[in-house]
Amino acid sequence: MIDYNILATVIAVTALIGIAIIAIRAYRARVEYEEKLSKMEQHLKHELQRAGNERDNLLDALSDVFLIIDDAELISYANVAANRFFNTKKLSGRPIRETFLDTRLTEALNDCLRAGGPHQTQATFPIKSSSNDEDVSKTYQTWVIDSSPMISQEGLSPATRIVMRDITHAHQTEQIRKDFVANASHELRTPMAIISGYLENLLDDGMLEDTEMSRRFLGIMRKHSDRISRIVEEMLLISRLESSKESGLTLDDFSLRECINDILERLESMIRNQEADVQITIPKGDITIHGDRFYWAQVLFNLVENALKQNPRKGLKMEVGAEDTENHHRIWVKDDGVGIPSADLEHIFRRFYRVDKQHSQQEIKGTGLGLSIVKRAIEAHGGTINVSSVPGEETKFTIEVPK
Ligand code: ADP
Repeated sequence: MIDYNILATVIAVTALIGIAIIAIRAYRARVEYEEKLSKMEQHLKHELQRAGNERDNLLDALSDVFLIIDDAELISYANVAANRFFNTKKLSGRPIRETFLDTRLTEALNDCLRAGGPHQTQATFPIKSSSNDEDVSKTYQTWVIDSSPMISQEGLSPATRIVMRDITHAHQTEQIRKDFVANASHELRTPMAIISGYLENLLDDGMLEDTEMSRRFLGIMRKHSDRISRIVEEMLLISRLESSKESGLTLDDFSLRECINDILERLESMIRNQEADVQITIPKGDITIHGDRFYWAQVLFNLVENALKQNPRKGLKMEVGAEDTENHHRIWVKDDGVGIPSADLEHIFRRFYRVDKQHSQQEIKGTGLGLSIVKRAIEAHGGTINVSSVPGEETKFTIEVPK
């Protein structure tokens, strides 16, 4: 006979075991699911982090300043270049207004922020650095500031991205070009006006009959037309040196002694007339230079001619010397003449710069381009030129070029 009690117990126990198994399985499945979920979450976080780092690395690799400004005008992102530019470690979170000390920059940035759409503007402001030879303009920086609203994402308030690019170099080059054109036109206009004035005298004022006067006028006109030719020649030389750099040089070995002798021969009549005492100091056995002889001749001619030109008095003492150091050829031209005032020293290599001084006796002395050519030619050879001057004692131009 079936004991229903036992049967019921067996069924109940079996059912309980079944339920327990199902519960355990469900629990296991849940644990597995949660583990998977947590792994996925971690993976997602990692991926987000990686994407964020990648974005930061990319933006930090930019030399441009990159900023994101939120709708409350707080900086929400700044790359390394931005922190460097504003000289701070942490720009993020700061109000944009507080960050920029220079008002011109703030105004330009505000224009960008207010524009509402893409906007570009330029800001030029001074920096704390001293001027040097050619580039007086190095004392300021010019930045182009480009801003644009960012595509707004759902749930995020609108933001503005700002990119700032340093265009100081291009701006300076453009400025130098403009100055050069302005100076060149000015320098050419003066002799042209003089020639035209004398022509008017000769033709319109009937002075042609006076042969002596005509001769004198024509002589003056020739002097000024020679000057125009010289300015044009020298401008072409500078332009050639600037556009071609080293690739434009015809390099060869040549004897420095021979080159100096050629120059002194060309200036022979000037040296004789001024009774100048020119000494050549070169080590026995000469120095061989690997360079463009044409430009070297021009360099030495300009330096020696300058010394003679600036010191028309008799008995000037000059030295053209050279020596070899371990890695360089050092060449110098020195004289004991009137010299160059210390305030002018840093400017004399600039185009068209001439020292305004009383001892300039001749009406026309030079173009102001000679030393500019010298500097560019030496730089094209990878060298440097320096000048020191104690007026009345020693004025010395020293060139150093790698061997
Ligand atoms: P320039 O054609 O007028 O000679 P440079 O560029 O050769 O132009 O020289 C610039 C200026 O530097 C000259 O006007 C002159 O005042 C000064 N200078 C150059 N060399 C000497 C020197 N040896 N002694 C005195 N002044 C010099």
